[in-house]
Amino acid sequence: MSFMSNFARPSRVQREAPLEAGNTPAHAARPGESEASSTISPRVREARRDLLDGVADFTMKHDLDVTGANLAAICNGLSGANTQLAEAFVAREISGEPIDQRWLDSVVRLDPDTKDRLAELDQLMDELEYSLIRFGQTAKSAADETSDQRGVIDAQINEMGTAASSGNDVARVIDLSRSMLENIERVEFAMVNSQEESAVLRENLARARMEADVDHLTRLPNRRAFERRLANEAQRAASTGSPLCVAFCDVDHFKAVNDTHGHEAGDRILCAVATMLNSVASENCFVARHGGEEFVLLFYGLEKDAAFEKFDGVRRAMARKQLMNRDTGKPFGKVTFSGGLAQVTDHADPRTALAEADAALYEAKQSGRNKIVAAN
Ligand code: GH3
Ligand code: MG
Ligand code: MG
Repeated sequence: MSFMSNFARPSRVQREAPLEAGNTPAHAARPGESEASSTISPRVREARRDLLDGVADFTMKHDLDVTGANLAAICNGLSGANTQLAEAFVAREISGEPIDQRWLDSVVRLDPDTKDRLAELDQLMDELEYSLIRFGQTAKSAADETSDQRGVIDAQINEMGTAASSGNDVARVIDLSRSMLENIERVEFAMVNSQEESAVLRENLARARMEADVDHLTRLPNRRAFERRLANEAQRAASTGSPLCVAFCDVDHFKAVNDTHGHEAGDRILCAVATMLNSVASENCFVARHGGEEFVLLFYGLEKDAAFEKFDGVRRAMARKQLMNRDTGKPFGKVTFSGGLAQVTDHADPRTALAEADAALYEAKQSGRNKIVAAN
């Protein structure tokens, strides 16, 4: 079964038999198992088998580890039980970018705070749109009314010019003109109100946009901001001929920090690494948190050798630091990171450089950690 065929139609398992306790794929008949012993309809069993096959195919096709977390995520994505994951799988497949462990981890644990901020952005956009529609409606109905009244006044004045006009006719024109002025005032009032309302909304929107680009823990730009920046800088570098490099950075044995000192202490270590990396951030270096204990850097205007020197300097500085757990007074020991670097401007597609930097990071990990490897 092809991967995309899982998305082309909603899974029958979803439509007919949601996966719940007592109704899990584990209860599906194995090949050769007696169908008579099951009370489940053959169609549902077939759908379960399809889903299981799909999960297995997906896991093998993308060389993913067979872990409970991976299988659950793949199952939820393929079955459509998690629509965000399903959409992310499809988008990734269409874009041709690799579906690897790092990417899967990052979508599965997509920072809930970022999700909240994106939801807030959506809501503000909706409010702004609604406010514009409301203002448009007020202005249109007032303009229609004013134009009707103008028609009546015109007709009245014409009549007054051809026939002997009475005091009543003049009074009527005055009344209509007054009402027209009131209408104009009403529109002016609505405009002022609407201007004030949209100024507040615009301010909230700008704040929410900024927040949606920031990682809540380290306050560094997040992955979303990085991806936009990479696209812009790659375009700029291609048009100016200036070099551009990208680097991934992953804290070494970070799980052990969490396991030994607890998650909160782990968070403080992530902030310390972020501060250290950010110390090189300047007009020619952009640093972002890519997700989890991974960071990503963009070096603009620097060739790979120069970017390497800069990045390796931060790695050495980090490795020299002695960090203490301020809650317990115990030392964290050396906290180091490994990195992989690649030159974006070596490739037509920046994603190739990302994959190269990723592979270089893997090599750095494999060859002992606490080192930077530059892609060839
Ligand atoms: P390696 O040197 O191979 O990179 O080993 P590692 O232990 O750093 O890598 P692994 O991927 O096994 O573990 C990463 C850990 O990072 C697991 C996860 O719980 C933790 N982590 C991810 N995000 C956060 C976070 O925001 N805060 C804390 N405290 N831990 C996090
Ligand atoms: Mg990692
Ligand atoms: Mg790590």
